[in-house]
Amino acid sequence: KPAFDAAAIRRDFPILAQQVNGKPLVYLDNGASAQKPLAVLDAMDRYYREMHSNVHRGAHTLGDRATAAFEGAREIVRDFLNAASTREIIWTRGTTEAINLVANGLAPQLREGDEILVSQMEHHANIVPWQMIAARTGARVVPVQVTPGGELDLESFDSLLGDRTRVLAITHVSNVLGTVNPVAELIARAKARGVITLVDGAQAVPHFQPDVQALDCDFYAFSSHKVFGPTGIGALYGKAALLEAMPPYQGGGEMIERVSFSGTTWNVLPYKFEAGTPAIAEAVGLGAAIKYLGQLDRPAVEAAENALLDRANQLVESVPGMEIIGTASHKVPVMSFKIAGLHPSDIGTLLDQQGIAIRTGHHCAMPLMDFYGVPGTARASFAFYNTLDEVDQLFTALQKIQRLFA
Ligand code: PMP
Repeated sequence: KPAFDAAAIRRDFPILAQQVNGKPLVYLDNGASAQKPLAVLDAMDRYYREMHSNVHRGAHTLGDRATAAFEGAREIVRDFLNAASTREIIWTRGTTEAINLVANGLAPQLREGDEILVSQMEHHANIVPWQMIAARTGARVVPVQVTPGGELDLESFDSLLGDRTRVLAITHVSNVLGTVNPVAELIARAKARGVITLVDGAQAVPHFQPDVQALDCDFYAFSSHKVFGPTGIGALYGKAALLEAMPPYQGGGEMIERVSFSGTTWNVLPYKFEAGTPAIAEAVGLGAAIKYLGQLDRPAVEAAENALLDRANQLVESVPGMEIIGTASHKVPVMSFKIAGLHPSDIGTLLDQQGIAIRTGHHCAMPLMDFYGVPGTARASFAFYNTLDEVDQLFTALQKIQRLFA
């Protein structure tokens, strides 16, 4: 494997080499969506130039090529997650659709008074689908508390995990705080009580590779666009036995075995959950993204990411009134912050004028904003293609903004 070389890696991401508002782009909004390497752009371009057709129709050569590329990508995702079988890998539009699929699929098993355990640090994608199912079934959505430092409160978890708990739906990594939750431990405790478990992996997969068999979760969801692949696709891992027991999420072509007006039967896994023509080029692009990640020196990537976060943490003191929200001991390189006297959205706008892209607002985590008593935060989220120099530029800009506007 080639050693980690930030300059070489940046050449793989053509979008990074541009000026924004007259300044070199510093892209620190990777948590919202990551940029795409040439390997992904090329794979999708080649797919459309050489092999596009509909999949699983088996009528001609292009169809066979498209099917091979599409199913090849499913195998890449299976391998990435270490799932036992490609039957357990369902294509979805992303994490959001994956969680909606599971919530709807589990609805027939939920009764009045049942509890769905989530946490106070969930993204809306792992709250609202459960609330909608709760309204339909009489179940309740119960949030595990968060500590002031931004870790899951394990005492709260243990006190809420009870006889009524049917589902534990928890994020692997917080998109706001960067906290890496001890999901293996939480799953083990839930499993001991027969609780079904879902992990929202949207913010985990850009930083490390999960092993669904080691975690022993029932479901694991992630989005391609956060893991350097295209938008419009993601994957749901589900244990075959649970997927078999769930009704399909949508009806249409592809997901059936036989249709008649006297009754319709479902296709086998994973196709039972894949109604309609899928996002074929996007699946190919996601496969290419995972392959790209696979040829990087992962320990070196992790070390580089940690160095970015360390540098950022060291520089916090250089900005008067700056405070980090989320100081967990185990974090990915995500930094939510506030600066006394400045509104988060003004910080975002002023940074953009310097060519620096961050995200501001509630980050689709309003209950967490309520917990911290803030309307929103400013968030810099780093990827392995960011440099220490970019971290320095962020802080130089923040110092200036604080001096002039706070
Ligand atoms: N969960 C988490 C933790 C996220 O960060 C996001 C995206 N911000 C989602 C779920 C939803 O992902 P998507 O919009 O790609 O479906």
